[in-house]
Amino acid sequence: MNKDNPYIKNIPGVCTVCGKIAYFDQYGNGICKNCGWEMERDEEQMGKMQGISYPMLVPVWRAREQYKQGKPFKATFEDFINGLYFYSEMEFKHKGTIYIVFFKNRKIIFCCEAFQQEYEGREDFKDKANIDGKLLKDIWDTEIDDPGYLFD
Ligand SMILES: [Zn+2]
Repeated sequence: MNKDNPYIKNIPGVCTVCGKIAYFDQYGNGICKNCGWEMERDEEQMGKMQGISYPMLVPVWRAREQYKQGKPFKATFEDFINGLYFYSEMEFKHKGTIYIVFFKNRKIIFCCEAFQQEYEGREDFKDKANIDGKLLKDIWDTEIDDPGYLFD
């Protein structure tokens, strides 16, 4: 098939999260106009094996639960850390400020314009990463917005 074909995302199918009609390309990828989920051919497998999805981050099984509960798709702290180990560069917002998490010399760097923190690994980051002393794990559900992969 021609890569420049403008009708590339025109294969009708069903959204894997909300079940409404959605359109796919020849690789099985597509975006649902109803719930906003971006479908990816390997999402079931990735959700099971790695606990995440790409490019959405939230694993598809959790996305279904969130959709049913009328909640927006939002990655848990655990999803976010899984995403970090998969993609290496992540971001989220806290009260309008952007924070970035990435690997450098095998350490996890957590930073914003005001500070930089370093962690030895998954557990260290999970237990101690904080904003002004407030642990990320404690404020994740209530104060952290738009956790996801760092895209250009
Ligand atoms: Zn949908």
